[in-house]
Amino acid sequence: MTPELVIYDLDGVLVDSEWLVAEVWSTELAAYGVEIAPIALIERFAGKTDTSMAEVLAAETGAAPARAMLEAVHASASEALKTNLQAIDGAGDALAASPFLKCVCSNSGPDRIRASLTKTGLHRHFEEEALFSGVEAANPKPHPDIHLQALAQFGVGPGAAVVIEDSVTGVTAARAAGVPSIGFLGASHIADGHGQALLEAGAAMLVERHADMLQAICAL
Ligand SMILES: [Mg+2]
Repeated sequence: MTPELVIYDLDGVLVDSEWLVAEVWSTELAAYGVEIAPIALIERFAGKTDTSMAEVLAAETGAAPARAMLEAVHASASEALKTNLQAIDGAGDALAASPFLKCVCSNSGPDRIRASLTKTGLHRHFEEEALFSGVEAANPKPHPDIHLQALAQFGVGPGAAVVIEDSVTGVTAARAAGVPSIGFLGASHIADGHGQALLEAGAAMLVERHADMLQAICAL
């Protein structure tokens, strides 16, 4: 297909943030006496909002109120991302070479979206009004709200767009919005078997490297 609009997820698609943020969560939880390894947090919560993650972990562990967890994690995560965040290999070149309209639909908060894109130099590929946060929508992914918001803003139908996603949460949201999705496996946190999970959630195909993305989109 030749889409009019490509909708990129941020964490795990454009920036390699999932390990960094999971390590922050794990460290902050340890301070409350709760031991959960970063990989276990990624398996359960990748693609979810920090708020929903904090609510689940606060209810399960009783270690601290969700709001206290969130404040601690946000402060440490923004430091870690400022220092260590990197773009995923080839993301900048692929964005520069893509002839399609593009936007970001992310379950991260608006400040983190902007900070992450700026730190990695990817902000130049997106207009300010092309950044959509699930935190600001009525419902975050896996609900379709931010994908539908992006389609409406660009005046593009769901069949003329493509979503690039690394999480089951995001692929589920794309499916609910009626937009075909490509499962991206190029982030450092992606484990064996994850591609199968994305296909089962509704991804139309899998891509491992940004260098192959344009060809994959056209082959959809
Ligand atoms: Mg993601």
